[in-house]
Amino acid sequence: MAEEPSSSGRLFLITGPSGVGKGTLVSALLERHPDIWLSISATTRAPRSGEVDGTSYFFLERSEFEAKVAQGGLLEWAEFAGNCYGTPREPVEEQLQAGRPVLLEIELEGARQVRRTFPSGFQIFIEPPSFEELERRIRGRGTDSEEAIARRLERAKVELQAASEFDAVIVNGELAEALTQLEQLMGLS
Ligand code: ADP
Ligand code: 5GP
Repeated sequence: MAEEPSSSGRLFLITGPSGVGKGTLVSALLERHPDIWLSISATTRAPRSGEVDGTSYFFLERSEFEAKVAQGGLLEWAEFAGNCYGTPREPVEEQLQAGRPVLLEIELEGARQVRRTFPSGFQIFIEPPSFEELERRIRGRGTDSEEAIARRLERAKVELQAASEFDAVIVNGELAEALTQLEQLMGLS
C-alpha cells in the first residue's frame, strides 16, 4: 500500500542529545504548523526558571511518576541524567485517533520503546555540527548545573552513536536550514 501523503494522524518523534536544539526546532515548527499536536511529558526533574507546569512538562514527585508507570499510564518512560521522563499515553492515542499529526520530543531509550509500539511512526535524530558546539550550546543555554552538564555530555556520547538507527538524521547547524529539512521530512512543505 502506498504511504499516506499527509502527515495527519501520524506519529513523529524527534530525538538527539540534550542541548542539540530539539526544543528550539520544535517551537519553530509549531509556530509555522499549529495543527501539529506536541505531547507534554511527565518528569520528576525540577522546573527550570520560566517553565510552567502543564505546558513545559507535568512536574511530578517520584512517587506520582511511579504510580503512573504502575497504572500503565505512560506510553514509554526512561531515566535521564538522574530524573524520570515519560509520555502520557491517553492524549497521544486520542490525538492520533482524531487524525492529528502527533509529535514526541524524547530521549533515546524512550524512542526505542516507541519504535516497538508504533513501528509505522517516523523517527528523526538531530545531530550537532560537532561535539564542541553541543557543549557550547548546553553551556550557553545557562539552565543546568555543572554536574547536570557533565551528565548530559556523557550521555550525549552514547546517544550520538545511535543516530544510524533512525529514519532520518538532521544536522542542526543553521537553524533555518534544519527547520526546512524537518518540514520536508514531515511532508509539510
Ligand atoms: P534541547 O531541547 O535539544 O536540549 P535547546 O533547544 O534547549 O536544546 O537548545 C540548546 C541551546 O542551543 C539553546 O540556547 C538554543 O538557543 C541553542 N540553539 C538551538 N539551535 C541552534 C542552532 N541551530 N544554532 C545555534 N544555537 C542553537
Ligand atoms: P530536559 O531535562 O533537558 O528538558 O530533557 C532531558 C531529556 O529528556 C531530553 O533529551 C528530552 O528529549 C528527554 N525527554 C523529555 N520528555 C521525555 C519523555 O516523555 N520521555 C523520554 N523518554 N524522554 C523525554
